[in-house]
Amino acid sequence: MPIATVNPANGETLKTYEAMGEEELERRLQLAQATFRTYRTTTYAERARLLNRAADLLDEDQQEIGRVMTTEMGKPVKQARAEAAKCARAMRWYAEHAAELLADEEPSAADVKDSGAARALVRYRPLGPVLAVMPWNFPLWQVVRFAAPALMAGNVGLLKHASNVPQTALYLEDLFHRAGFAEGCFQTLLVGSGAVDDILRDERVKAATLTGSEPAGRAVAATAGEMIKKTVLELGGSDPYVVMPSADIDRAARIAVTARVQNNGQSCIAAKRFIVHTDVYDAFAERFVAGMAALKVGDPLAEETEVGPLASEQGRADLEELVDDARRSGVEVLCGGERPDGPGWYYPPTVLAGVTREMRVHREEAFGPVATLYRAADLDEAVLIANDSPFGLSSNVWTRDEAEVDRFVRDLEAGGVFFNGMTASHPGFPFGGVKRSGYGRELSGHGIREFCNITTVWHG
Ligand code: NAP
Repeated sequence: MPIATVNPANGETLKTYEAMGEEELERRLQLAQATFRTYRTTTYAERARLLNRAADLLDEDQQEIGRVMTTEMGKPVKQARAEAAKCARAMRWYAEHAAELLADEEPSAADVKDSGAARALVRYRPLGPVLAVMPWNFPLWQVVRFAAPALMAGNVGLLKHASNVPQTALYLEDLFHRAGFAEGCFQTLLVGSGAVDDILRDERVKAATLTGSEPAGRAVAATAGEMIKKTVLELGGSDPYVVMPSADIDRAARIAVTARVQNNGQSCIAAKRFIVHTDVYDAFAERFVAGMAALKVGDPLAEETEVGPLASEQGRADLEELVDDARRSGVEVLCGGERPDGPGWYYPPTVLAGVTREMRVHREEAFGPVATLYRAADLDEAVLIANDSPFGLSSNVWTRDEAEVDRFVRDLEAGGVFFNGMTASHPGFPFGGVKRSGYGRELSGHGIREFCNITTVWHG
């Protein structure tokens, strides 16, 4: 895959880049290692000052970087600006909270005494250069949710961004430099995915985080396993969105539309499988389909656009294949389902009903604005359908019944259970999945501690 900006709205190649050669990579790895030696000794207050500065600069750049993201991967420009704003907030959140999240921990007095120590503590120390392999779908956010905690913890970052968002990748490096971070604190490596293996094997790289597809996660985790390096994997999702009879059906249907088509449907935590109790199925389906069919699809740079093109031609072909496979097996297409003529990689908001276990769309992630509708006879069946997926990222449930709430929290196989609202990440809450959605957590205290050397300090 060439490293290039190709506008998904018309297929035009706007900028291409040469991948960095061996010499340049070596220079950058050396710089990362050398910078870490000094950066790790800086105080939380100093790191926070720089990160807050980066947040201010990002706010100033919001219009411009929003347009760049939209041009590189097609998200509606309003959502691109909102992503930039969210990144600035996350930077400020970590600037404010890191010292407290990584403060020394005191074991209990009884344990200290029992171990024969005069005193003891647990200290969170940084690991060193961490490689971040990132996807294009939230080209700023995916990186910032790694970079903000990593930099606050005293690590330095090496970014291998997706090949179709090179301008955003270079912008991030520039942003951290302008904020005052030393040059080696955060570097972008402009390379294709074929170069990742060698970089990960380099002794100077201490750990890796990957957000992306299952095959990419498997490749990185296999090499990291061989090299005994810590990894965090944030992979795909096919989140269930369960609607029970006590729900506010109007709201559930309205938010279902946003939950499915946010980011042109290309979000790991988008609700993808809509599992509706039979008593409210028809009422929900009617509202949901009407909402999906009414969305404004078009030029992502236009302010009023709600759904833009998919990020790549291949992405659209993959999605189309999933829908066609289901159609061949007798699925009912309630809206959409036909690729439009004309330039750009557009695909209409689509709702499929009557999905069976044999259809690929039941097991695989639909990475675009395609929703599947299921009818559940009762709570048990809703849980069964929700868990009948290789993925376990997040989940959504609409109910006002407290007994049902307990059951869903107990039984849903996912890293999040969101009631009466859609899944959204927030720096204060851990984010990540189970099953083939990956392992480890980002954000919150759990996220910042993933790439720390959790050190026991014991005094006899
Ligand atoms: P992808 O193909 O896996 O790409 C993600 C990153 O991995 C890119 O930088 C890519 O580089 C690199 N990569 C690809 N194959 C690799 C390999 N064999 N070894 C090392 N690196 C490799 O994913 P995508 O299709 O762009 O992104 C969509 C996927 O990401 C979806 O499955 C989505 O659910 C998932 N995702 C998960 C989360 C989460 O938080 N759990 C968030 C967002 C997206 P190139 O671009 O150079 O190929």
